[in-house]
Amino acid sequence: MIHEHDNPVCYHQSCPVCGRNLRIRVMLLGQRVYCQHCGGGFIATDVCDNTTTPRVVGGRPQSSIVDELIERAAAMLGVTPE
Ligand SMILES: [Zn+2]
Repeated sequence: MIHEHDNPVCYHQSCPVCGRNLRIRVMLLGQRVYCQHCGGGFIATDVCDNTTTPRVVGGRPQSSIVDELIERAAAMLGVTPE
């Protein structure tokens, strides 16, 4: 079930340039995105934002976490990843 007021394919990350809170699509994780406020470019990642629940990264490559998130987002969208 998807709640209209809470888009599960997006997460929040602070802009490293201006510090504003941005809503970023989970599918853009690991890719370069641009702040809608200051126009600054940065790599989308949810592991450097200490306002979210910290992840356990016990030797686990970050890429696998990204893949998992993309897979999860794709599943929500009804898209089958390669
Ligand atoms: Zn910014």
